[in-house]
Amino acid sequence: MEFNHIFQSQKDFFNTHQTKDVAFRKRTLKKLKTILKENEGRFYEAIYKDFRKDRFDTFLTELSLIYNEIDFFLKNLQKLSKPKKVKTPLSLLPGKSHIYYDPLGVTLVIGAWNYPYSLTLIPLISSIAAGNTCVVKPSELPENTMHLLSELINTNFPSDYIYVAEGGIPETTELLTLRYDKIFFTGSPKVGKIVYEAAAKNLVPVVLELGGKSPALVTRTADLEVAAKRLVWGKFLNSGQTCIAPDYLLAEESVKPELLRLMKEKLDEINYSDGAGHYASIINKRNFDRVLGLVDKSSIYYGGRSNEQTLYIEPTILDNVSWDDAVMQEEIFGPVFPVIGFSNYDEILQKIIEGEKPLAAYLFTKDNTEKKKLLDFVSFGGGCINDSLMHITSDYLPFGGIGNSGIGSYHGEYGFLAFSHQKSVVEKTPWGEPDWKYPPYSDKKLKWIKRVM
Ligand code: NAD
Repeated sequence: MEFNHIFQSQKDFFNTHQTKDVAFRKRTLKKLKTILKENEGRFYEAIYKDFRKDRFDTFLTELSLIYNEIDFFLKNLQKLSKPKKVKTPLSLLPGKSHIYYDPLGVTLVIGAWNYPYSLTLIPLISSIAAGNTCVVKPSELPENTMHLLSELINTNFPSDYIYVAEGGIPETTELLTLRYDKIFFTGSPKVGKIVYEAAAKNLVPVVLELGGKSPALVTRTADLEVAAKRLVWGKFLNSGQTCIAPDYLLAEESVKPELLRLMKEKLDEINYSDGAGHYASIINKRNFDRVLGLVDKSSIYYGGRSNEQTLYIEPTILDNVSWDDAVMQEEIFGPVFPVIGFSNYDEILQKIIEGEKPLAAYLFTKDNTEKKKLLDFVSFGGGCINDSLMHITSDYLPFGGIGNSGIGSYHGEYGFLAFSHQKSVVEKTPWGEPDWKYPPYSDKKLKWIKRVM
């Protein structure tokens, strides 16, 4: 009932047209940035309480991206929201054509728990920038961050414009019955289907940012030192609880032993021990048990230790894994890195193609043909050549999945477009129209139409 009330009030507020004003949107974004800056310490504290996430990581992987997104829109919103003049075909002359970027209305953002600030606030920023009102439902699992978000947003902004709804499955289920103008969901493919189904009942368009098993490939031509360093960082950041983390590693047999040795060296250098400030815990006991359940002890090459009290799982590398092992059947979403060797690059690409389309893919190579084959033949959301994760940090690249890993994209301009309707308008002059489209028809008119259209 409360959600229905908020929803109706947001609809009414949207219809006052205040959000159409670009200056109003920019003021909102500036205010949001000030609130975040003034409360940065509380953001670090809340997330540390939730899963021991370190302040450096929180700044690097959450706050810096959020500030970036706000700054992007403060700089570019005027230009982005201006009607765009496009070409007008001969058949529509005399006249002109424009695309108008219309706000959609009332939007709903549902976030996942693993990056609880950026996965809620970046879509919110895009929604505000595009001129919508927004209800945000963060994940209930990191409860301190959820409370902080609702406190800061709900005390600083009117609920008929922006509102944070707290809650888990029952509350989300209730929210999903309302007829939003867009639903932006981040989470698992399983829940993505529930959201999509609920949205379909009201023909609500969606963006679904989902997950899956993202491969990393290392071939014999790669700089192994670089590959080891960047893969270890990308895999074990946030204890592997990253949607675009390399889920599993495919290493060319001839370089696999050296790559594994280098990865071990990097892990030893960094100190990922229990309680090491920079290494997050697993979010809850359920996920702790699930991730450990995927580890076949006989395959452990590195790591394997854990602590139930602190929900710590040591970075763990599994060697000589087979495609049929449990660890290869689901998204790992934890600090366990299975390694499979290969000797034929084309065959291994084919194996990836046979699975669900991944959210990300990473290739470490110096060979342009290998690079071209991956890019030409494998469908995946986004990724990097010779790096991991970093494509997500660019405002100039759309971020999103494909197939089982998602629908639609956001970040920068793409977030603006995700929350806008592109309204196409032809504007004709009241004069100068040839009469070829009006009856009575004639052969002469038909000839003319064939030429013009
Ligand atoms: P989840 O799907 O369990 O939950 C996501 C959201 O949905 C939460 O807000 C939760 O409250 C809500 N929810 C859960 N069950 C629901 C139900 N039955 N009905 C309605 N709402 C429900 O996902 P999670 O555990 O929070 O996050 C992990 C998953 O999210 C992984 O698959 C990961 O890859 C994916 N993910 C994707 C991205 C991306 O940008 N593509 C980012 C982060 C996480």
